[in-house]
Amino acid sequence: MQTVPGPDIAQRERRERLAARVRSVAPSGIRRFFDLIQTMDDVISLGVGEPDFTTPWHIREAAIYSLERGYTMYTSNYGLLELRRALAEHLARRYGVVYDPQDELLITFGVSEGLDLAMRAILDPGDEVMIPDPGYVSYAPCVTFAGGVVRPVPTSSENRFHPRASDFAERITAQTKAVLLGYPNNPTGAAPSRETLLAIARIVAEYDLIAVSDEIYDRLIYGREHVCFASLPEMRERTILLGGFSKAYAMTGWRVGYVAAPRDLMEGVLKIHQYTALCAPITSQMAALEALRNGEPAVQSMVEEYDRRRRVIVKGLNDIGLTCHEPDGAFYAFPSTEAVGQSDEEFAERLLLEEHVAVVPGSAFGTCGRNHVRCCYATSLPQIEEALGRIEAYVKRKRKT
Ligand code: PLP
Repeated sequence: MQTVPGPDIAQRERRERLAARVRSVAPSGIRRFFDLIQTMDDVISLGVGEPDFTTPWHIREAAIYSLERGYTMYTSNYGLLELRRALAEHLARRYGVVYDPQDELLITFGVSEGLDLAMRAILDPGDEVMIPDPGYVSYAPCVTFAGGVVRPVPTSSENRFHPRASDFAERITAQTKAVLLGYPNNPTGAAPSRETLLAIARIVAEYDLIAVSDEIYDRLIYGREHVCFASLPEMRERTILLGGFSKAYAMTGWRVGYVAAPRDLMEGVLKIHQYTALCAPITSQMAALEALRNGEPAVQSMVEEYDRRRRVIVKGLNDIGLTCHEPDGAFYAFPSTEAVGQSDEEFAERLLLEEHVAVVPGSAFGTCGRNHVRCCYATSLPQIEEALGRIEAYVKRKRKT
């Protein structure tokens, strides 16, 4: 068969192979560090935001047993009904927020998928999303990939990186569609008070916005309550709640999480999930069910251990002279690098090369993260103590020069 080129083909300009919105997102600032770490020995990593615990045995055992019983098939697009029922009970019991397990809860490939689904479900091209800065590295790219526009809302060390409602109000435009909240926060550990969240909720209601609330660290909170955004007045109908199993149950590799949303929003979220992911892996869903049913003692003991480490690392960093506020939740300390007169990037790079301690530059999480580094304390106390010793040696040396 002969192919005859159409008249316009010769005139066609060379087209970019990747879409403009994909090209517009810079590669992750963290990746370069992790590539560097791979080439080095004896590195203590306070870099990766991942529990150092293995998934509790009873959870792994439940998954193994489900395989033995032959659970190897697709589930409903929403996920296993038994798991959704357990999740509905869990959310009602912990936060007093009620979702119908039939069509208001969806099991996903972690919060990562939930975030992408939420953004694609609600954004039209040019819609703006307000995101506190600094924030988790995936937030802004997910908005951009979905065709939206990111409006950073600055937070600062003066306020322990807690957001202020007035900063949201000042940034609202005719295009504002949503706020994307991530509390307790990665990288700052901030968990705002109920009053602050209520003030943000009033803005969400007043301007008819949608709140996407990533609460993956809800269980990792120290000496204060976690406020579920959807539980605030009028917020259940306006919130897409994202939650997960990765952090609380040390289940990062299982890739399982959930979306909770009112029916109309869930309809859109589900549509994308059913055509692009079909369903979360059944083995992981079985594990998640066991986690919800019997995982509480393990969560409690992991949280106690994180809290112990949190106190050691925060005190240690402050003693060394790197000013560090007390994180309310998650497992990150976020000290300032100003005392050594170095930018976060320079500090992180020199510390890695000279002392073999990996931390993440704060600017990888947004411009307001500048001159801070994220130190993840989801690693053993002896490792944290060794890392503090090395950081101290580094800081002393830099202060002399
Ligand atoms: N949200 C935040 C704030 C995170 O820190 C992470 C992982 O580090 C995720 C979401 C991704 O979670 P998941 O493993 O459930 O996809």
